Amino acid sequence: MSKPSGHTLPENIFQTVFEKSPGSLLLRADAPHFTILAVSDSYLAVTSTTREAILGKGFSEVFPEDAHIDDSIKAQKIFAMVIETGQKIDIANYRYDIFDPATNSYEEHHWSCSNVPIVDDDHKIAYILNTVVDITAEVKAKETAQENAERLRIAAEVTGLATFELDLRSHNFFYSPRMVEIFGQKPGTVITVNSMRAQMAPEDMDNIVRKSFRQALMTGEHLYDIKIQLPDGQERWIKTQGVIIFDQQHHPLRMLGTVLDITETRRDEIRKNDFIAMASHELKTPLTSLKAYLQLLEKKITKADDAFVNNALVKANNQVNKMSDLVYGFLDLSRMESGKLQIKMQEFDINKLVEDTITEYATANNQALIFKPKGPIMIYADRDRIGQVIGNFLSNAIKYSPKETIIKINSRLSGNNVQVSVTDEGIGIKPKDQEKLFQRFYRVENEQMKHISGFGIGLYLSSEIIQRHKGKIWVESAEGKGSTFFFSLPV
Ligand code: ADP
Repeated sequence: MSKPSGHTLPENIFQTVFEKSPGSLLLRADAPHFTILAVSDSYLAVTSTTREAILGKGFSEVFPEDAHIDDSIKAQKIFAMVIETGQKIDIANYRYDIFDPATNSYEEHHWSCSNVPIVDDDHKIAYILNTVVDITAEVKAKETAQENAERLRIAAEVTGLATFELDLRSHNFFYSPRMVEIFGQKPGTVITVNSMRAQMAPEDMDNIVRKSFRQALMTGEHLYDIKIQLPDGQERWIKTQGVIIFDQQHHPLRMLGTVLDITETRRDEIRKNDFIAMASHELKTPLTSLKAYLQLLEKKITKADDAFVNNALVKANNQVNKMSDLVYGFLDLSRMESGKLQIKMQEFDINKLVEDTITEYATANNQALIFKPKGPIMIYADRDRIGQVIGNFLSNAIKYSPKETIIKINSRLSGNNVQVSVTDEGIGIKPKDQEKLFQRFYRVENEQMKHISGFGIGLYLSSEIIQRHKGKIWVESAEGKGSTFFFSLPV
């Protein structure tokens, strides 16, 4: 019976397969020559040789090795060991530079190779199959990555930044040694997420860290300043900044971040804050007596019926009020920063409060303040502080809108909340500024603003006051058309 023709392999097929295989060289196990018996095309290509030039020659004759290279990766030694042990020997990475005729110079190359013993019919090792792979590109990429990591490490060290990586699924935590220093621990101490948390006040954990983390899960950015307690009892301020890496389904994978010791900057801020508190406190006393004298004068002059003096007094009063708003603003700011701003809750009618506040803000620009409440709305809040927020909305509406326009004030109950809004027909605010208005000292920068005085603390204070009442504050505005400022409070 003849074999089916489909199973018959053409003559020389193994030779062809060998010659097409990646990076292969067949050697006779005739140490120390290691005669080259067959070579693949790709081996010839990467070593810039030809089949005629190397077949039948000894391996070291064709590929001479530098006498300085380590014995453990010398081809001669390895081949000898393959014969001695009868085992396959792999070399994961070694350097062997190749002469490039195009540039007439040796080019750096990295290789990984495998050396397999092949036995003959007598079970003696007769051949060695040497397979090489050019891994230069991988080695270079790894070197570049290492250089980048090193550069980053040096930059972080010089700036005193600690770096960390938190795996959000396994909770594995990796960090640079600077982290241990910042947390005031002895070198070599193992830091964990829990050990760090133990150095923070529990209420800060809730109000600052967890809050920021929840936000980071939405925005990807984690940022907060917090006070930590060192093992020796001292306090330190740190700034943590991180980004969250998500997978394609938007599941959080890892957080990468930095920690910086900001104690000194914080102390500077506290000193500045103390100075503002002291200065505004000192200004308050003379201002109060100036106001009292003006009131006394007002009473006497009205009787005198002198139009010029009367007018001058009204103007002086306005200026004193302006100044006292600023001084009280700064005083509140410093109280707020040092956590001393107190909220005194009581029940009151917010519509009555709006009406009372409106009478205080009779406008110099002749704008009409329109408020039409439908009966009282009782709420439980700090009356003076909420009055301050309404006053801030009103004075801004007056300040930032032209003469003889209309300012509408609205209040309404919506579910369990009361919503108050002040709408003007003024200069309006660009969307990019709208996000920042409630930040400390933020003022819009444009030509019109240059002529309107202010320090950018009113809305910041208002927002803090509303937040302490667990309410919301926001703005809707179109540039050139006007703005509506809102707040809502639980009733
Ligand atoms: P100030 O008015 O003292 O600068 P605020 O904190 O009250 O401080 O306001 C911050 C900034 O918001 C203002 O500087 C102004 O640029 C902008 N702003 C506030 N209210 C209005 C408004 N009704 N119309 C236009 N811009 C406003």
